[in-house]
Amino acid sequence: MSNSNQPRVRFAPSPTGFLHVGGARTALFNWLYARSQGGAFVLRIEDTDQERSTEESYAAILRGMEWLGLDWDEGPRVGGDFGPYLQSERLDIYREHLDKLAASGHVYKCYCSADDLEAREKAVRDGGGNWEGYDGHCRDLTPAQTAEYEGQGKPFAWRLRTPDDGVTFWYDVIVDKREFQNEVLVDRVVFKADGFPTYQFAVVVDDHVMGITHVLRGDDHVSNTPFQILIYEALGWKPPKFGHMPMILGPDKKRLSKRHGATSVEEFQKLGILPAAMLNYLALLGWSPGGNADEVMTSSAIIKKFSLKKVNSSPAAFDYDKLNHINSEHIKRLSADERLDLAKPIIAKRSWALDPEWLIHGADSTDAYLGRLLGTLGNRFSSLVTLPEQIGFFFSDDHYVDQEAWDENVATDEARRLMIALADAIEEGLDMAVPQASNAFEEVIRSTAEKLGVKAGQLIHPSRVALTGQTRSAGIFEVMELVGAPRTVRRLRVAAAS
Ligand code: GLU
Repeated sequence: MSNSNQPRVRFAPSPTGFLHVGGARTALFNWLYARSQGGAFVLRIEDTDQERSTEESYAAILRGMEWLGLDWDEGPRVGGDFGPYLQSERLDIYREHLDKLAASGHVYKCYCSADDLEAREKAVRDGGGNWEGYDGHCRDLTPAQTAEYEGQGKPFAWRLRTPDDGVTFWYDVIVDKREFQNEVLVDRVVFKADGFPTYQFAVVVDDHVMGITHVLRGDDHVSNTPFQILIYEALGWKPPKFGHMPMILGPDKKRLSKRHGATSVEEFQKLGILPAAMLNYLALLGWSPGGNADEVMTSSAIIKKFSLKKVNSSPAAFDYDKLNHINSEHIKRLSADERLDLAKPIIAKRSWALDPEWLIHGADSTDAYLGRLLGTLGNRFSSLVTLPEQIGFFFSDDHYVDQEAWDENVATDEARRLMIALADAIEEGLDMAVPQASNAFEEVIRSTAEKLGVKAGQLIHPSRVALTGQTRSAGIFEVMELVGAPRTVRRLRVAAAS
């Protein structure tokens, strides 16, 4: 719980879709600000749009935040002093504040139906005019008109009476001073005829009563801010500080969308991006540690360096290659145990298990075996997506094969002759019934090469492809140790017969 001088920020998603990168970055910057200042990070679900809000989206947003490690101090599941944190459960609070505005004359009833508005909009546009969202039709109804509508039992919404002149401005913590002429601000609806507040109203009431000090959100909300400031003023409240983050563009500098690739946090999870890497990359979208600082950072390093002042006010372009690079850097920096934890579910999914026939030194469990073979990969373990291709051959004869490499290195008469000679030499020279260490394989390869009058490499290249399906792998002697002598011989013979 924060102390009273510390900032209180919030992430306030509407549960109408998945947690996409824009929302995740908004959540992250709020979280970073709270964590770096010792403040509180509140999660509030803005589900007043009953038609578009879904349970599925609500669950996906929470899942996405948990996956990223963006823990909230107050909100759904954890509770807090300012709950409930779902707007649909706060209707009484909004109603109470609406009543205040009605009593002070800051809001008025609007009896226009959607059809009425649409018809008038069409008429204005047909006449070459601009329609800004409302024409003030019910702003100054006479008592007789009001009585007539009431008599007809016409449903009504409540609109805020915005000032006709003057300016509304704020000092944005990211984009500096923003100013709007009040005459261009429309009397928007604050309470709908269905008895629900609009986003504009609920967000102001909640941010105020929840003690939010900084509203940090996407700059798609800039046009809402002056209207919201007017609601604060009508209620006699001081507005919080606002900070609008620039939007995220695709690599082509157009607004990031599906056609650029993955956009939801869960899609990136499926693509094998680590949560720490996603968080790191999102933090760099509009913020940078400055100077020559290493951009590959843990969340605690980012928290230490984070400052709102360094948030960029120009749009950030999403760079999928950079995300992948950051991801591989995070994997490279993991400890052997962490790599093992990462790889285990991938192995489990493929039901690869240790076969006693492999006879491996010091690897009497699948975990120990996996640990050893991950060790041979070293920094070549840089992606969860390519990992099964890289290690499949250790577990199964039915593994990934690079066909071009196979045709070039294995499928020639010379390679076949050498592989058969090597298989024979291993069978003759090594005890196939006990585990063999890498140096035993090395000796056999070197002596066979000498006997045949070829370079060791001439035996090694086709053997590597025969055993692993690829031209790049860990040292071949180590690979043979981990594949085991019986399977090594078998694969050499199968390759020679192919
Ligand atoms: N529910 C709004 C949205 O998802 C939140 C806007 C805000 O942060 O004020 O866009």
